[in-house]
Amino acid sequence: MSGWLAIAGLGPGDDRLVTPEVSAALAEATDVVGYIPYVARVAPREGLRLHPSDNRVELDRARAALAMAAEGRRVVVVSSGDPGVFAMASAVFEALEGRADWQALDIRVLPGITAMLAAAAAAGAPLGHDFCCINLSDNLKPWEIIETRLRHAARADFAMAFYNPRSASRPEGFVKALATLREECGPNRLITFARAVSTPEQRLTTVTLGEATPEMADMRTVVILGNSATRRVGRWVYSPRSAK
Ligand code: SAH
Repeated sequence: MSGWLAIAGLGPGDDRLVTPEVSAALAEATDVVGYIPYVARVAPREGLRLHPSDNRVELDRARAALAMAAEGRRVVVVSSGDPGVFAMASAVFEALEGRADWQALDIRVLPGITAMLAAAAAAGAPLGHDFCCINLSDNLKPWEIIETRLRHAARADFAMAFYNPRSASRPEGFVKALATLREECGPNRLITFARAVSTPEQRLTTVTLGEATPEMADMRTVVILGNSATRRVGRWVYSPRSAK
């Protein structure tokens, strides 16, 4: 039996946003590995083993998945959104370092629709010009790096998408991020809070930076800050195709 490993993105929440390629891999899998709420999105069936684990054990989870594939199992590591965006794909490649045996395995990354793209689509087209995307969690990098990146991105007039904006364990980070952005972009810049996009709880709120408060974001929110030309039209928000 020849095993394989697929690192798959489940999209932002709606089943219709799971790609056919990911559905096919899940249909052939013997094992599904991932963070508890993501594994819970996979329908159980006979012959499929589910391996849910806590969020903070990404490397262990990646090694366990590779070991199973090496034994001949067909393993899908699941992430929400896209697996390459602040998610499991990098953890799997990190686990491959120094392991020539695992590097010979059949490994594929299956893309998914990442939160910022689903959120941008729901809002209109706020990422329609150059943009960047920054993880605001300081679990895996010091705050100084986040602040430097925010300032440079603002000065380059990128629109920005922020992942992991605010959690109960680090409520102060987003307060600082908003203050930094107000300093760099002024109070009139548009900012969209997109919560639980593509699920029944979806909520979209667009305000100016001057009106934005930290409580508008939580861990189920992706935040999109416009560039200097981002504007409203009707009930939508968009960034024009050209920059001056
Ligand atoms: N790999 C995922 C991101 C994982 S980081 C992806 O590509 O989307 C987790 C963060 O993603 C959350 O804190 C939130 O900022 C964002 N996120 C994930 N799903 C979301 C959704 N349905 N709506 C809004 N934000 C979401």
